[in-house]
Amino acid sequence: MNELQAKMESKMYELLWQYELNHWTVSWFGGFKVWGMCCWSKRGISKRQIQLNYQLLELHGEERFYDTLLHELAHALDYESRGRSDHGIKWKLWAEKVGAIPEQYDIKTKQEGALEAVKQKYQYKCETCGKLIGPTRIWKREKSCGDCCRANGGGFQERFKLVLQ
Ligand SMILES: [Zn+2]
Ligand SMILES: [Zn+2]
Repeated sequence: MNELQAKMESKMYELLWQYELNHWTVSWFGGFKVWGMCCWSKRGISKRQIQLNYQLLELHGEERFYDTLLHELAHALDYESRGRSDHGIKWKLWAEKVGAIPEQYDIKTKQEGALEAVKQKYQYKCETCGKLIGPTRIWKREKSCGDCCRANGGGFQERFKLVLQ
């Protein structure tokens, strides 16, 4: 981990502790698409984790990246208060409270808007990153979110299962 990463990681922990989310951990991933992720597992508190993209941090610098910390913090608070999170009104209230800019988030939300605009017949959602997929028929077997799985070692992963809305 380089100096900048270490600095952002301790800032993230500071924010988590400030909001009494001491059981959350921080980790890093790469790629040029997703800025950050908020991950959880219903099976225990050990899996609650904020994941941050070190490549986008390098590319855009700490000032621009800082909003990602606040964005993911809002997801963590949202999740703690109701057992799930997305980019809906409840998350937006947390985002406002912690000072995140709700409009400045990741590519996933743009995809969400685009999918809604073409009105897919069915809609599946990744509860982790909020990505929506709109197939024309119900899937016969479970699928997981490609983005989240790739960022976490690949393969089908139950925790990133796409859920029919
Ligand atoms: Zn988000
Ligand atoms: Zn996902």
